[in-house]
Amino acid sequence: MTEPVCVRFAPSPTGHMHIGSARTALYDYLLARKTGGRFILRIEDTDQKRLIPGAEQEIIDGLHWLGLDWDEGPDKGGPHGPYRQSLAKEIYLEHARQLIANDRAYPCFCTSERLAALRESQRQRKENPRYDGTCRNLPPSEAARRMAAGETHVIRFKTPKEGSTAAVDLLRGEIRVENGTLDDFILVKSDGLALYHLAAMVDDNRMGVTHVLRGAEWLSTLPLHALVVRAFGWREPVWCHLSVFLKPSGKGKMSKRDSAQTATEGHSIFIRDLREEGYLPEAIVNWIALMGASFDETEDVFSLEELVRRFDLKHLNPSPAAISYEKADHFNGTHIRLLSVEDLTALLKPVFEKAGYAADGERLRKVAAAVQVRIVTLDDAVAMGGFFFHDEVHPEAHDLVGKGLTTAQSADALRAARELLAAEPEFESAKDEAALRALAERLGYKPGVLFGMMRAAITGQTVSPPLFASMEIIGRKTYLARLEAAEELLRKMVG
Ligand code: GLU
Repeated sequence: MTEPVCVRFAPSPTGHMHIGSARTALYDYLLARKTGGRFILRIEDTDQKRLIPGAEQEIIDGLHWLGLDWDEGPDKGGPHGPYRQSLAKEIYLEHARQLIANDRAYPCFCTSERLAALRESQRQRKENPRYDGTCRNLPPSEAARRMAAGETHVIRFKTPKEGSTAAVDLLRGEIRVENGTLDDFILVKSDGLALYHLAAMVDDNRMGVTHVLRGAEWLSTLPLHALVVRAFGWREPVWCHLSVFLKPSGKGKMSKRDSAQTATEGHSIFIRDLREEGYLPEAIVNWIALMGASFDETEDVFSLEELVRRFDLKHLNPSPAAISYEKADHFNGTHIRLLSVEDLTALLKPVFEKAGYAADGERLRKVAAAVQVRIVTLDDAVAMGGFFFHDEVHPEAHDLVGKGLTTAQSADALRAARELLAAEPEFESAKDEAALRALAERLGYKPGVLFGMMRAAITGQTVSPPLFASMEIIGRKTYLARLEAAEELLRKMVG
């Protein structure tokens, strides 16, 4: 794959950007950068009724957050504008007129009432709803006269009625349909706005798109799109329909309703939610890159640069891919551990601030280093490391009692640990860990049991960053005081 490609990401700003469209954009980006080609962002906003204010900006922000950039687009300009379809109305109309002139399309003057009645009678006869061709054979002069008189009309494609049409999907091979099953679908609505079937084909051609990567939901309309492209006599792009996403259970396609459901379970498919939940863009990129393509037999952790280096259309996989949040967590934890402590510190600062902690400077840096080994998302840092910023901790009494120990034995063990530490200057894990292990053995307990009690006493939690690193951050005075307070609490319980 050496020829530079031209690809486009063509979202409709009709909702939040989800991982499916992010993956399309990612593959576009990878292919363009791999081949030294062009990547275009095109906003498909012809369906004005479905537009959602702010959705376009969300797409742009989401792509930037993921680390993707493009060469031409509504925000960047370029030689193939407009890049927003609502601004190209005349261009599509011009092309539709050209098809009418070549007898590949025709104006249809049927009223919506007539079409509704037609659909109803077809439904009663259990036939597929489709246009019956009333205006298909109007004499061209009559059609032209009625259009010129301003009579309301749509423009329909004149699909062939005989034979079949085949088009090739790169991942699945030939897709063929019997022409008799095709409708005379609408290219331009009565308000003069083009529909996707026309607008996207015209844009792909005038923008010089060589490879169309898009969702598998467009596979069934592929022959129809091929017919439009061929009606103009254009060269067809390489069509490549990406795999569908399945529900996390693997049973069935991910629907809008399912995504609302998974969001209530704390897992969202929307990029802005994942960002909000403390996922790293590097992790999301890694995660979605592997849902539909393979990059290596054994390795699965890749940076964006590495993905560019390895990307090949040959490795795209048409099989449906189940969305696995375990994998998202796996990649997030992994990419968090790959960050420099400085970068993680900078990312955690706003997370702690949002949770109400004035986290800053050297202390925050140390906290970041301590939590880095254990957190899965950035937000976890607050639950795991918030105690570093508290003046006091409040452990649960039962967490202070060691497994298999009585309350009195636990209090004694905590005292012994405190006395050992009090005899030492500032905590130094290399030396003091060995002394604490020896102490546990002397007392006849497993070191883990002693460390568990100490963890609860010092951090107030049963899960925390590594204990000794935490002690170094908290400092001698504080950990000694907390060990003492924990012991007192246990003594009171003994009575
Ligand atoms: N606007 C279409 C969508 O959002 C684009 C499909 C395509 O890439 O051609 O599904």
